[in-house]
Amino acid sequence: MIPSILPTYNRAPLHFTKGEGAWLIEEDGRRFLDLGAGIAVNALGHAHPALVKALTDQAQNLWHVSNLYEIPQQQALADKLTEASFADTVFFTNSGTEACELAVKMARKYWYDKGHPEKTDIITFAGSFHGRSSAGIAAAGSEKMVKGFGTLLPGFVHLPWDDPEALLAAITETTGAILIEPVQGEGGIRPVADAYLKELRSLCDEKGILLILDEVQCGVGRTGKLFAHEWAGITPDIMMVAKGIGGGFPLGAVLATEEAASGMTAGTHGSTYGGNPLGCAVGCAVMDIVADPDFLADVNRRAGLLRQKLEALVASHPQVFEGVRGMGLMLGLKCVAPNMDVVQAGYDVELLTVPAADNVLRLLPPLTLTDEEIAEAVNRLDAAASAVEEAL
Ligand SMILES: *Cc1c(COP(=O)(O)O)cnc(C)c1O
Repeated sequence: MIPSILPTYNRAPLHFTKGEGAWLIEEDGRRFLDLGAGIAVNALGHAHPALVKALTDQAQNLWHVSNLYEIPQQQALADKLTEASFADTVFFTNSGTEACELAVKMARKYWYDKGHPEKTDIITFAGSFHGRSSAGIAAAGSEKMVKGFGTLLPGFVHLPWDDPEALLAAITETTGAILIEPVQGEGGIRPVADAYLKELRSLCDEKGILLILDEVQCGVGRTGKLFAHEWAGITPDIMMVAKGIGGGFPLGAVLATEEAASGMTAGTHGSTYGGNPLGCAVGCAVMDIVADPDFLADVNRRAGLLRQKLEALVASHPQVFEGVRGMGLMLGLKCVAPNMDVVQAGYDVELLTVPAADNVLRLLPPLTLTDEEIAEAVNRLDAAASAVEEAL
């Protein structure tokens, strides 16, 4: 008989009842150190007092009015995001994949209104992930995601991940945009080199193509900059954000320049819940903390400490790990042993990590992880790796 929850996930038999910072407490009392943070969502850890206050204060007053009316919390968050980024304008969604939907529509409408309705093609890359909506799976295009789901949204051109020549050859009269994650998350924590992002920007400028960045996983302080593309010193035309921006409350956004957004006039897009007062109140509280340069400097310091300890860990477990990759607190341990074995061994030592493609173990801890928690995390990873070695 089918379970009462549609069985699309293989879940670990863990029941968490409470969260505190980087810790999740199981029903039976065990305390798990959470290096997954709800897949890079709980950017400030669990039950951060500023977020709890923002949410509960808002909940006392007003939950929802719809976008038929002005929403001050939405305005405040849009102002914070535009002030802190390249963007001139923001549309709020409830998830990353909804942000992907709008990014695609926005790029196509831009060219349509410019008198180039043929420029509907969007170039995407192998190993990418843009969510599970019809546009999201069509954009990523991997067999695992699209097989069995019938005719896909047309207009995506899938290229190998790191092949500048294939990219040049793929650009035609119908190319409207390039869509890329500055650091692939699901694909196995694969950062795009700064030099390549710069090249993409120049190529887009030269050929008149929109650059869309998917920063759903790598944005909001995760790499040690507010947005990952800042490391390369470039700006996109359109950017998708979600996960960390809500700190655990469902919230996403599309950020864009005035030019790229010029086709999106009244009536061209909408969302019932997008930009609701609850989500935006929490988003404002997240931005107030994460956009602070001192906070980001400390994320970078702690990320450096974690990385150093992980390099030593990898060196002492060559049968389990072969390398560390990623940026900031978006790190991947490339495994030699099956990555799921390490995830499972982690559960036995009360440590939560997340698998990714390419046999990578993802570490996406709360950005607030302390020095002591970093030491504890590496001790537990060491114990998990030893258990995996013993079972080999
Ligand atoms: C998680 C993710 C998405 C999809 O976000 P949802 O909120 O699950 O719809 C899109 N792009 C990237 C890079 C992601 O990591």
